[in-house]
Amino acid sequence: MKTKSYAANSATTPLAPFNLERRAPGEHDVQIEILFCGVCHSDVHTVRNEWQGTTYPCVPGHEIIGRVISVGAHVKKFKAGDIAGVGCLVDSCRTCGNCEEHLEQFCEKGATFTYNAPDKHSGGVTFGGYSESIVVDEAFVLQVPKNLDLAATAPLLCAGITTYSPLRYHGVTKGQKVGIVGLGGLGHMGVKLAKALGAHVVVFTASLSKVEDALRLGADEVVQSKDEDAMKKHLNSFNFILDTVGAKHDINVYLVLLRRDGNLTQVGVASEPLEVDVTNLIFGRRSFSGSLIGGLKETQEMLDFCGQHNITSDIELIPIQQVNEAYDRLVKGDVKYRFVIDMASLKQAK
Ligand code: NAP
Ligand code: ZN
Ligand code: ZN
Repeated sequence: MKTKSYAANSATTPLAPFNLERRAPGEHDVQIEILFCGVCHSDVHTVRNEWQGTTYPCVPGHEIIGRVISVGAHVKKFKAGDIAGVGCLVDSCRTCGNCEEHLEQFCEKGATFTYNAPDKHSGGVTFGGYSESIVVDEAFVLQVPKNLDLAATAPLLCAGITTYSPLRYHGVTKGQKVGIVGLGGLGHMGVKLAKALGAHVVVFTASLSKVEDALRLGADEVVQSKDEDAMKKHLNSFNFILDTVGAKHDINVYLVLLRRDGNLTQVGVASEPLEVDVTNLIFGRRSFSGSLIGGLKETQEMLDFCGQHNITSDIELIPIQQVNEAYDRLVKGDVKYRFVIDMASLKQAK
């Protein structure tokens, strides 16, 4: 099926209209008309080939909210007309140990990511959500709480789960002190989710202009990460810190803020290695780890949690014709706090 989309044809050319082919829905597939798609910084990293390995044309987008158009004969969870979500994964082997533990993102045979991943159906690569529709096996389609604004729900599919999963894994709970480094798409969701879990939340930002917003978003305290005196006041005090910065920066200034047995989890992906001074880990038995999105079961749990707590993203809704400008603004840190594409605008594209 011919499907309108926006694609990058190289690492240095802007995204532009592109007609892609979607498969006809199979027995277990859900065909979704895409209504909204969030713009994740990973889209920019991939389109600009900052992580290497991008196949062009590249159609990004993994924060998808849409309406079900049709379902295959064996689909049980969805019917035409339902609202559905698709995140960063569209398939996995479903039988390996990690898949059996609902950690499809770590599938031992290689998870199928929503874009720029080998696609067993087409023989090419997967194409993401900057498009008018998508066809996905129902096992990888999420149910969306009915009480949430749809456009503002789209970013939960990546920014939401990527922050929820490590907060849960590291047992963040009422009364704990939690730091969030970087107030962008992931960071602002981290603040909302950590707050809803009952934590005392401290935001570390390099941007003076975001201090008031951080408090409005629910942070209890905000620290300018370049202010050494302000940083010192928090030495040895955090149970958990989530670092969302996707560029080279000094993580040791955060490691020393952890209390004994505290953990710093890195989710921002810098293209250069980050240096760890191991004495910061050894003294205090602190740990440093990473986390990758979340499995399907946990993503559904996160959506339900957001439904119960009325949590969505703070968004700037844009037509797809403004996506290249949005990328440039994202790189400058000028986003409050997630761009979401209104996919109705794609109908105007040639
Ligand atoms: P974003 O909206 O651009 O937010 C990143 C924030 O980091 C910025 O707003 C900024 O906050 C801070 N920052 C400081 N220095 C920076 C620099 N030189 N370049 C960029 N940001 C800088 O990005 P995002 O969508 O939240 O994604 C953040 C990172 O997480 C990206 O690397 C993305 O690829 C990665 N990611 C990882 C996963 C995963 O599963 N691990 C999932 C999704 C995304 P302040 O102004 O407050 O300092
Ligand atoms: Zn993402
Ligand atoms: Zn697997």
